[in-house]
Amino acid sequence: MMYYSTNGKAPSAALPKAVARGLAEDRGLYMPETIHTLPEDFINTLCTRSLVENSAVVAEAFFGEDIPSEELRRIVGSALTFDCPVHEVEPGIYALELFHGPTLAFKDVGARFMARLLGYLTGGEGEINVLVATSGDTGSAVANGFLGVEGIRVFVLYPKGKVSPIQECQFTTLGKNITAIAVDGTFDDCQALVKAAFMDSELNGRMRLTSANSINVARFLPQAFYYFQAYAGLQAAGKARDVVCCVPSGNFGNLCAALVAKRMGLPIKRFIAANNANSVFYEFLQTGRYMPRPSLATIANAMDVGDPSNFARIWDLYGRDARAVRSDISGATYKDSEIAWTIKDCYERTGYLLDPHGACGYRALKEGLRPGETGFFCETAHPAKFKDTVEKIIGEPVAVPDRLAAFINGRKRAVDLPRDFASFKEYLLLNCSSKKSL
Ligand SMILES: *Cc1c(COP(=O)(O)O)cnc(C)c1O
Repeated sequence: MMYYSTNGKAPSAALPKAVARGLAEDRGLYMPETIHTLPEDFINTLCTRSLVENSAVVAEAFFGEDIPSEELRRIVGSALTFDCPVHEVEPGIYALELFHGPTLAFKDVGARFMARLLGYLTGGEGEINVLVATSGDTGSAVANGFLGVEGIRVFVLYPKGKVSPIQECQFTTLGKNITAIAVDGTFDDCQALVKAAFMDSELNGRMRLTSANSINVARFLPQAFYYFQAYAGLQAAGKARDVVCCVPSGNFGNLCAALVAKRMGLPIKRFIAANNANSVFYEFLQTGRYMPRPSLATIANAMDVGDPSNFARIWDLYGRDARAVRSDISGATYKDSEIAWTIKDCYERTGYLLDPHGACGYRALKEGLRPGETGFFCETAHPAKFKDTVEKIIGEPVAVPDRLAAFINGRKRAVDLPRDFASFKEYLLLNCSSKKSL
């Protein structure tokens, strides 16, 4: 499969290049040249097979030309070692729970899949170094996704003292091939160090560096697995008619994967994009104009994005036609006070505890669902990941799952570095094995 750039000014790339680069030379996002339609018979019988079996068929449609089936199946099986069930919150409204992975958030599947795919694509060619800057959530998903994958080392740069304790322990307690670097600076400083490293010709001459950015096709496309699984769950419940899919969105990668699933033949009637106060996409739906701006801090902070990178993919997918986008996707936006009220109200009425991101999805679905439709929203994180916020809202303690508790009790280890590039470069030169020695 070849991948083209949404900016249309860079050459198409084969899978290994698209994965290693992340972004095309013209700063566009890669999209598969063909989105294969899956047989109706496969769709109609989704609920008779396991998550791994269904996902292997979906993965084959994306990556089958580039990776032998058996290998692909192995990658899918080792990325999806946990379930993503649908849970009926109230009549007609289902939560698609995407938080049963190692870091209790939906980015786990994409990160784990990408790690294994990268391991396969670069297999036997020596060590590859993944650099990732994080303000919290991405670092934990990437670090856990790549943990123990042979031939890959991961360096997570984070602003010292500026990420939440729960997030910090999810990437500082892992050891093995994961190194956490506490930078004496801000998230922007971390990102600047990573960018400078990718631009530095001496570093790139001596070692193989790559990113694990969320726009990477190897992280983005596997998220389509979720939507086939959601549909399977609704099928099993006898509710697979007039299905509406609501996705709490930040960078819009997850929603975009759902749109791709529809192109593959998954019968989803329409979509709702749920936003927090960062309402750039919502406004685009109203006005037809895309006006990015700086992000606002909210209690659903993994969705604090003012210029969603996957907008380019959605725009491309609908032929650069705002009316076409609107015919398939509607939007909603909620302030923190509305998110908080929704968490409390849903918990008190149904007993189901939402996290702040899922709460946007739940509310947008509840407000947007029409008679006769069945809807599901993505519950993208476990509420315990936002323990302090959620406890304040419901006035009750939130139980922490064992997996999260294990991180909290682990020994934190991080390398302290100042924020200047010279120190970071020296550190990499001393600690990464060079290309030639392998
Ligand atoms: C990343 C994230 C989102 C937003 O997903 P996008 O693909 O960036 O739109 C929503 N909820 C949680 C918990 C996340 O970590």
